[in-house]
Amino acid sequence: MEINQELITGLVARVLQELAAGKATQSEDENGLFETVNDAVDAALEAQKRLIAMSLERRKQIIAAIRQAALDNNETLSSLAVRESTLGRYEDKIRENILCATKTPGVEDIQPVVLTGDYGLTLLEHAPVGVIGALTPITNPTGTLINNSISMTAAGNAVIFNPHPSARETSKLMVQIIHKAIVGAGGPPALVCSVREPTLETAGEIVAHPKIHMLVATGGRPVVNVVLRSGKKAIGAGAGNPPVLVDETANIRKAAQCIVDGASINNNIFCTCEKEVIVVQEVADALIKFMQETGKAYLLTPEEADKITRLVVTSERKINTAYIGKNVQVILRQIGVEAGEECRLAILETPHDHPLVWLEQMMPVMPIVRVKDIDEGIDFAVKVERGNRHTAVMHSTHVDHMTAFARAVQTTIFVKNGPSYAGIGLGGEGHTSFTIAGPTGEGLTSARTFTRQRRCTLVESFRII
Ligand code: NAD
Repeated sequence: MEINQELITGLVARVLQELAAGKATQSEDENGLFETVNDAVDAALEAQKRLIAMSLERRKQIIAAIRQAALDNNETLSSLAVRESTLGRYEDKIRENILCATKTPGVEDIQPVVLTGDYGLTLLEHAPVGVIGALTPITNPTGTLINNSISMTAAGNAVIFNPHPSARETSKLMVQIIHKAIVGAGGPPALVCSVREPTLETAGEIVAHPKIHMLVATGGRPVVNVVLRSGKKAIGAGAGNPPVLVDETANIRKAAQCIVDGASINNNIFCTCEKEVIVVQEVADALIKFMQETGKAYLLTPEEADKITRLVVTSERKINTAYIGKNVQVILRQIGVEAGEECRLAILETPHDHPLVWLEQMMPVMPIVRVKDIDEGIDFAVKVERGNRHTAVMHSTHVDHMTAFARAVQTTIFVKNGPSYAGIGLGGEGHTSFTIAGPTGEGLTSARTFTRQRRCTLVESFRII
């Protein structure tokens, strides 16, 4: 995609200036940003009451306005997200935001269920939970906010975000844009809101606040555990370490292309991205050759592989966060390799116990491990997925192999013969979600996830057959 960087930088600066100017004259209710958690909660409670008093038609208009505002401001948001968080790629953020704005289900997702029989009629409604507290990750500050805002308000809730502090400015802009769209469509102010300065402390206040009815954490295992321990209804969308398994029956050239595309989107920061390749020995050389032939993958020599490992993995066997989400050129330059502009991924052959195989690296450096056959491949892939039950990918044309791996790995998302992002609706069937709730089991969340079931029973009447 052609990017006019100068134009975008100017655009971002202008929007930030306008927002800063507006800040002096706008009250909190006018921009959705609150000084304290308490103020945000009070305003959100009021907003939620007003929303459920409105028609569903109005709610649909509100959702449509959020979608449109996200699309209209996509360039500014994407540019700011990359600049502030220093993670990911501009052109991929653009795709992320379009995906979230267009493929997050709206009000249609909360269709009621009706049962009729000898004893009358029962109506099952997906009712709102009230006010939701949502903790969101640095990796997708815009996508998660667009996706969560649509899902949560479509279900009749208000939401208070505590975005990741390192994506504070982007998230504030995102909240303001969504807020303006909602109010412009006749919705209540503060339906989607945030604290002006999100910190770990404000996150803690949200978690403990007695008037917040549900918590949603999108992030690593520790924050998921925090909300699960809260004593409230909580949805946890945690970390993954998705393996991609390639067997001898796969279309190897296609597999190579899919893996390079899937693993390099947004520099590997999506939780769903392929994080390690496991390939049956017989086709390993072909797979590596075809990955190189995409023109987007650089194969590291054994010496370069050692150097890059020492660079991106610390002596405590942890990921060096300085390289998370960076372009491959930036990482390779550190070990004296100049990769062309087209390059998106560094690949390296590794032994089974290599740290990059076991850790969620979230950078475009991809380990490749050979296995003797499909059985060893499945066993190993299940181990390196580490019980996250998040995402796994397979390239194969053997139905028994695919079934065996899917059964063994038990992930929320299982993609066959496509890039990982097909599993979140980008080039694959189905809706999108940027809050994939593996630990608590809701899967790819949508409006229905953020509801409580209510039943209304009418006895011995109203049946038309
Ligand atoms: P993170 O866990 O560091 O932070 C996520 C959010 O939780 C942030 O807003 C942060 O401020 C807050 N937080 C962190 N620790 C907290 C605590 N002790 N108390 C209260 N709040 C706390 O994650 P991150 O680095 O921003 O994002 C990357 C991680 O998120 C990766 O592991 C990735 O796999 C995961 N992720 C998962 C999904 C999913 O849908 N399952 C989506 C995106 C990212």
